[in-house]
Amino acid sequence: MAPAGAVSISGAATHYTRVAGVVGGAVLEAAKALLKARRAFAFTGAGISAESGIPTFRGGSNSLWGRFDPRELATPEAFARDPLKVWKWYAWRIELVLKARPNPAHKALAELERMGVIEAVVTQNVDGLHQRAGSRRVVELHGNILRVRCSRAGCGFRATLSEPPKELPPRCPRCGGLLRPDVVWFGEPLPPEAWREAEAIARSSDAVLVVGTSGVVYPAAYIPLMVREGGGVIIEVNVEPSAITPYATIFIRGKASEALPKLVELVRELAGT
Ligand code: NAD
Ligand code: ZN
Repeated sequence: MAPAGAVSISGAATHYTRVAGVVGGAVLEAAKALLKARRAFAFTGAGISAESGIPTFRGGSNSLWGRFDPRELATPEAFARDPLKVWKWYAWRIELVLKARPNPAHKALAELERMGVIEAVVTQNVDGLHQRAGSRRVVELHGNILRVRCSRAGCGFRATLSEPPKELPPRCPRCGGLLRPDVVWFGEPLPPEAWREAEAIARSSDAVLVVGTSGVVYPAAYIPLMVREGGGVIIEVNVEPSAITPYATIFIRGKASEALPKLVELVRELAGT
């Protein structure tokens, strides 16, 4: 159940396309709200990439949480204790990301940016699929899994991967220290520049389109809440209610890859383009 006040339609957004001639409900409300907004952006989480074959952490039977505990693997302590174990997990995830392709949800957000409806995507994802789908302004709050950096303080070596490292754990070619994935682990601060940019976008926007996030990872989850705090609207797309749903003005219950293309279609119709 969606909380009182949110427009909630269960049974996936595709429902609307099947009801011939009748277009209504949450997706239409969302399209209107986006067009009415002065400035809007998208805030995304692992759910938007689930249909590209990249497991989420939480939610869904294929989530990583069910099979591994990311808190045991995605922490600086785990890396210090057993870098090989952590790297084996990352090598597997890097392979998944390299094999994955952007899905219609990523492409729909790129299209909304081209149409001038949203001005950026702020993402918690580390898979780079927004950029590959054509989004131009992407703020990565949690880094990127295809980048590595030296774990030794002061070395500063960084590189981008086109395949998983051959030898695990990989070593820094400059100083021989351990390389680590250039992602934000539990307990680590966010990259200050990305955070500042995301906060500036959120504080100057009056609408945010939240897609596929459980909304429990902080401080990232503050970003959509800042919009609400400033009097703006939160439009949310998720297969199930999240921690953000109580604050959402419009809740679209459905798969991102079905709801977002439909949203683009309605925005186009309403805008007459
Ligand atoms: P999460 O795993 O905590 O939550 C995923 C959310 O997506 C859930 O609310 C779920 O209901 C929803 N969802 C699942 N399938 C969906 C679909 N098809 N359409 C719409 N919604 C769907 O993810 P999170 O909130 O992003 O937080 C997890 C953290 O883990 C992030 O900080 C991120 O860095 C990292 N992570 C990233 C990736 C990636 O880059 N693809 C994958 C897993 C985890
Ligand atoms: Zn080094």
